[in-house]
Amino acid sequence: MKKNPKSEILDALRKATVNEFEAVTFIERQRWGNEPACPRCGDVDVYQMKGTYGKRNKDYRWRCRGCKSMYTVRTNTVFEETRLPLRVWVYGFWKACSSKKGISALQLSREMEITHKSALYVLRRIRHGVGTEINAPKLHGTVEIDECYVGGKPRNRSSNNPRGRGTKRAPVLGMVQRGGDVRFRMMDRLTVNRLREVIAENTHLSCRIITDEYPNYRSIGKAFAGGHEFVRHVAGQYVKPGTDIHSNSIEGVFSLLKRGVYGTFHSVSKKHLPNYLNEFEFRFNTRKSDDGERVSAAIKAADGKRLMYRESVDNPPYLVPTN
Ligand SMILES: [Zn+2]
Repeated sequence: MKKNPKSEILDALRKATVNEFEAVTFIERQRWGNEPACPRCGDVDVYQMKGTYGKRNKDYRWRCRGCKSMYTVRTNTVFEETRLPLRVWVYGFWKACSSKKGISALQLSREMEITHKSALYVLRRIRHGVGTEINAPKLHGTVEIDECYVGGKPRNRSSNNPRGRGTKRAPVLGMVQRGGDVRFRMMDRLTVNRLREVIAENTHLSCRIITDEYPNYRSIGKAFAGGHEFVRHVAGQYVKPGTDIHSNSIEGVFSLLKRGVYGTFHSVSKKHLPNYLNEFEFRFNTRKSDDGERVSAAIKAADGKRLMYRESVDNPPYLVPTN
């Protein structure tokens, strides 16, 4: 009986979390599809190196005829510098991509029988890998923009200041295109200039934007051809009656983010918050895909992002010399 492609990828995924050979071939397929190319020079004149009895070489190496170098599926990826089995990485990708809330390092270390430190290392790099590219396409159409505060304990919250502006926690700016993608950015400050800069990086000028009445949004809104509408959050208003002027999409996304952070990770420090935001952003933006497609997209997204995450590179577990 012929299986449909969806259950095929899930089958392969399941096998890849228990067997190293399956893990290697799974990642190879996600990275290169039917056309394996050299990650160093891009040449497609490449071959798998063989060991005894014609089996694959024990490190699953490839050789490129173009640049004469050896490489593996780890080369130029977030998993390059560790000896951790790839099945651990596949499992980490799967769990980080599939459940609504992600997986904590504690869970990953228990389920894969690795140290907590290694689990943290894996998850941080996966989150780094799925982060939106700097020059990703901008949001279009109607974009709801707002900020929220996650991580640490709520402070300075009162009925006069229900949204926590002016607290010591890190503000996160959220921008969501209705029916489309979300972008989160941790902000140092919510000054007009910083807000303008970050919004312009992520939102196309043809947009119509919807914010609350925070004065710093006013001058920024004027730049948008689609106009700028407000809801009055201080007055408890989230929808302007009889219109489509509301902030329901961004409120929904923020509540998912908060439930995820508090439910799975309990709290997140300012230092690591941008890393977690990547993961939530990725899960939300791939919400229409199934688990298999999402894992595949995550592995592709992590391609080529090897050295950009300094914090982990400083101290990887089981460091091996790179070839
Ligand atoms: Zn090459």
